[in-house]
Amino acid sequence: METMRDGGEMHHVFEKAISNLRAIVGESNVILNPEGYLYDETPEAVRPEICRDTVVVRPENTHQISEVMRLANSLRIPVFVRGGGTGLSGGALPTKPGIILSMERMNRIIEIDQENLVAVCEAGVTLRQLIEAVERIPGLSFPPHPGDESAQLGGLVACNAGGARAVKYGVMRNYVIGLEIVLPSGDILSLGGKIIKNTAGYDLLHLIVGSEGTLCVITKVILRLIPEPGKTYTLVIPFHDAWSAIRCVPEILKSGIVPMAIEYMDIEAIKAGERVTGKKWPFSGGKAHLMVIVDGRNEAELMEKSEIIEKISGKYGALDVLVGVSRREQRDILEIRSLIYEGLKNETIEVLDVSVPPASIAEFVEKCQKKADELDLKVLHFGHAGDGNVHQQIMKSGLRKEEWMKRYVEFKEFAFSVADELGGTITGEHGIGSVKKRDLVKTSPDVLIEIMRKIKKVFDPNNILNPGKVVDDE
Ligand SMILES: Cc1cc2nc3c(=O)[nH]c(=O)nc-3n(C[C@H](O)[C@H](O)[C@H](O)COP(=O)(O)OP(=O)(O)OC[C@H]3O[C@@H](n4cnc5c(N)ncnc54)[C@H](O)[C@@H]3O)c2cc1C
Repeated sequence: METMRDGGEMHHVFEKAISNLRAIVGESNVILNPEGYLYDETPEAVRPEICRDTVVVRPENTHQISEVMRLANSLRIPVFVRGGGTGLSGGALPTKPGIILSMERMNRIIEIDQENLVAVCEAGVTLRQLIEAVERIPGLSFPPHPGDESAQLGGLVACNAGGARAVKYGVMRNYVIGLEIVLPSGDILSLGGKIIKNTAGYDLLHLIVGSEGTLCVITKVILRLIPEPGKTYTLVIPFHDAWSAIRCVPEILKSGIVPMAIEYMDIEAIKAGERVTGKKWPFSGGKAHLMVIVDGRNEAELMEKSEIIEKISGKYGALDVLVGVSRREQRDILEIRSLIYEGLKNETIEVLDVSVPPASIAEFVEKCQKKADELDLKVLHFGHAGDGNVHQQIMKSGLRKEEWMKRYVEFKEFAFSVADELGGTITGEHGIGSVKKRDLVKTSPDVLIEIMRKIKKVFDPNNILNPGKVVDDE
């Protein structure tokens, strides 16, 4: 075994494990060179120390996962569950020698049940696969849309992912009605099912949603589907300055219409999306833009909603209101928005995803921008303004590491303290992973962390599942 350089007793344990793992998942599904499984989308500047002395195991079914977990638990080998690798908090990355459990072969859509309006899928099914399967059935939809469609359902559940449409349609948690999980002991459990109501004991199902691969392996997901919302229009609304754009958001929310999405973007962020896609944003001027998606049963309803939004944004000095009507126009706008991160990631230190009450979003952005200016730190704001979850992309902007590190830490702590003041939280959708572990402890009451650690111990007494993440202080 060439990749396990840990030496001594642990090396011996791994050698013993390899032959057992091969017997469980087949020789070709135990990969000794983990290159290609060692990264996710967490910016390099804050990525945790990655351990390369790992082996990749690619199970095909729940039974095999149960056997792998039983083996790992008995030999105390750490297991890092990996979904699509699109995470932004280092959650799937190995921090010590162990097994990367890749869910890529668990990619079957088991059933789209049109009677009960549910999808039953293996956890390795990607968001793209699910959307395509649901779109083939007229009248049905799965609305949550976190930006990267190569994320897997298991990963989306494990992170309680959100996305732009959360304003109207909520986050993953609102759609998960059943799970099959494998505990570190190897025991297989089914939670919930194709049922709407369930009050039988403590709600473990929703404890697993957002557990970031630290409590169990999610192997099967049952998701609620809803009738298709109808047609959509995508409005692009440019403003001279950031404050006018961001102050307009709570007014739209108070107007009585609930848009599917309200996204805020600095113009520089838009340009990054244009560069990656090679597509043109419909309006080139203005310092800050809103992208608002409305849905409705017919053109008249969509027109009415668009006119209300136009009126409100006019009061805040909007330079124009451009309406994307055709599918193609709307798809291009969304694509530019979705690929902003891709266009900026090489220069990025970290993307914060603080969440505050939606009515406080202007105050949050205003205070943080002032702090960034004071520190002479470049911070681009973009993202889910409609649900109070604007992302802050902190940029290196040519500074040396010693220079940006101090400013970045000060900015991050400031943003978290403002979030606390406003009744918000340090992460609305990317999760804690390894990147925000210390911040979680710093910003939470001791008793809360203690309860979380006790819960972890109940599920995983030997701490083999995703060690070094969330509340594990290793
Ligand atoms: C361009 C871009 C846009 C994004 N936009 C959004 C957005 O709008 N909203 C949002 O919420 N997120 C967004 N993300 C972040 C990311 O897509 C989500 O965090 C997603 O949930 C990660 O899923 P994944 O399958 O890639 O998980 P991974 O990155 O592989 O893993 C993430 C965590 O989930 C755990 N995990 C994965 N699969 C399982 C499983 N089967 N069982 C148990 N644990 C598991 C891992 O151990 C890890 O802790 C974006 C990322 C990118 C790159």
